Amino acid sequence: MAKKNYRVAVVGATGMVGQKIVDVLLNRNFPVAELKLLASARSVDLKVNINSREYVVEEAVPEALAGVDFAFFSAGEEVSRSLAPEAVKRGAIVIDNSNAFRMEEGIPLVIPEVNPKEAFAHRGLIANPNCSTIQMVMAIYPLHRAAGLKRVVASTYQAVSGAGKEAWEELESQSRACLAGEKIVAERIPYKDACRHHQIAFNAVPQLDVFVEDGYTKEEMKMVHETRKILGEPGLKVTATAVRIPVFNGHCESLNLEFERPLSPQQAREVLTRAPGLAVLDDPANLLYPMPVEASGRDEVFVGRIRSDHTVPYGLNMWVVADNILKGAATNSVQIAELLLARD
Ligand code: NAP
Repeated sequence: MAKKNYRVAVVGATGMVGQKIVDVLLNRNFPVAELKLLASARSVDLKVNINSREYVVEEAVPEALAGVDFAFFSAGEEVSRSLAPEAVKRGAIVIDNSNAFRMEEGIPLVIPEVNPKEAFAHRGLIANPNCSTIQMVMAIYPLHRAAGLKRVVASTYQAVSGAGKEAWEELESQSRACLAGEKIVAERIPYKDACRHHQIAFNAVPQLDVFVEDGYTKEEMKMVHETRKILGEPGLKVTATAVRIPVFNGHCESLNLEFERPLSPQQAREVLTRAPGLAVLDDPANLLYPMPVEASGRDEVFVGRIRSDHTVPYGLNMWVVADNILKGAATNSVQIAELLLARD
């Protein structure tokens, strides 16, 4: 793999995450020799202008992946399951944004600031964690090292960009319709194939993805299982409630954390300030705390509202906000590929 420039494919290149992966590759000067934009048959021959150069979208089929060094997948679970093994077979390293392989034994699930070494054990495929997991683990990992986490209670407030480009468009059209007193059309939330759909404009929907076990949703259980895998703590107590809110971009999380050892809010701020990829924005006197409008478009995970939870011996509450399409997906994926290049 020790080359100077790499042939890169983005599978799902016309989507919310895929378009951002292309931007991030360019912005971070990833050494791209050739870029292939792949999507469904619906987008074949679509022309995309990138840096004054025209690219033509091709259909994501196994043959299109021949000769590719890095394939970034963001076209959903089904496409990853069928096509990612084909890419690996053809010699590519796949970085997969879907849920298809994350919990599979032997598949690294990587956040470069947290468990970079896991990436080097790959057998052709590395999984990118779920967006809400990434920002939570970025914030809790340094504190876990400092004071030993006992329990995590997470409540999320997640943007519609996390449900793809059609959900984004639906929030736009529903907001307009609501304000104009027109009929609301709901087809995307909680998810496309659901048996009923809910209005997202001016609403909050306590369901992301399907219900899976014991009253929890798949999104909530991803946060539990992925966090344990990334931290290498299979017994860590994690529980989550995930809610979709009418924000275009930028997920928020309220985290309640209980520790083995004492950790004051000031010590937590110091630990988090030193940690890579995090930005502490915690100045209540000046009404400063993280918010999606400011985190959107940024790579950092923002942390604020850090305060003691006086109901347990060693507890903290905090508020974590990040761009779910950047650090929650595209930036983290490209950082994983950069890790492999750096080792070369
Ligand atoms: P999106 O905006 O709906 O885009 C979906 C992309 O997949 C489009 O490029 C689409 O191509 C392509 N696609 C759909 N069906 C396909 C098929 N049969 N063959 C080839 N390409 C196909 O969705 P997204 O938000 O980018 O999410 C994509 C994936 O990333 C999902 O697995 C999602 O769970 C994951 N992810 C998303 C986030 C997030 O915050 N959005 C974060 C982490 C991970 P067409 O335009 O041709 O339909």
